[in-house]
Amino acid sequence: MIDYHIHTYHSIDAEGTIKDYCDRAVRLDLDEICITNHCELDPSRDDSWIRFDGKKHPMTRLGLKRLENEIIEAKEVYKKSGLTVKFGLEVGYYDGIESQLEEITHDIDFDFILGSIHCLNHVCIDSSREHALYFSNHTVPGLLGNYFIAIEKLIKSKFFDAIGHIDVYKKYGLEFYGDQIQNPSQEALQKVFKLMSEYDIALEINTAGLRHINEFYPSPTIMKCAREQGLERITIGSDCHKVADLGKGIMEATHYAKSFGFETVYGFDKRKPIEIRI
Ligand SMILES: [Zn+2]
Ligand SMILES: [Zn+2]
Repeated sequence: MIDYHIHTYHSIDAEGTIKDYCDRAVRLDLDEICITNHCELDPSRDDSWIRFDGKKHPMTRLGLKRLENEIIEAKEVYKKSGLTVKFGLEVGYYDGIESQLEEITHDIDFDFILGSIHCLNHVCIDSSREHALYFSNHTVPGLLGNYFIAIEKLIKSKFFDAIGHIDVYKKYGLEFYGDQIQNPSQEALQKVFKLMSEYDIALEINTAGLRHINEFYPSPTIMKCAREQGLERITIGSDCHKVADLGKGIMEATHYAKSFGFETVYGFDKRKPIEIRI
């Protein structure tokens, strides 16, 4: 089993060292983990940080290099225990990030880059403190319209191997708007999945939804549409921000993928997809 969405204490909203996660992964008998810390770069926000030795530092290329070295070290150490450790990143995409992202990731050897939409119009829609700022000024069609436009741009940027928690808007949207939030237009979804196949981007099954709202990201409706549109690549991640959540729901996510007809999930090595039978 794999867990392809993990935040160590290097993300300022997470806790646990690389060693803590690796030790736990060995105990859980996971085959492979990919550490995907946050990379938020929006200059109009205050979340562009990376943490080392208990102190937060501005997110820079040098910081990512330092993180790369720590993960390379762990790769070597845990090989002996049969655990494969990969170096990933979760980038909070927004329109206009491209040149900064190019600069900060240049010459760094990532295995996997996950693209997620956390913010719309610079407001974090999956934050308990911020979501109402955006939601109170948007109808459901307005929110979903803008969200899926951002997803299309993320895909077309060609920076990413997978899309994280594709219906994360429901985390607080379900309580704010009700069930209406669960029905993005089929047309918008079909367009997104056609593009994802065309640009070879994987869809993540993210188990954090189980812990927040008792449902995976993506919802069954979205999984069904992805399958019908011929999307092939699936990744699986717990999106853990503490060691106790590592691997949570991964087995269930595998069954969930199978229930829609998927027979493989994907890992990545130096940005190359690797098929894993489930
Ligand atoms: Zn995220
Ligand atoms: Zn995450």
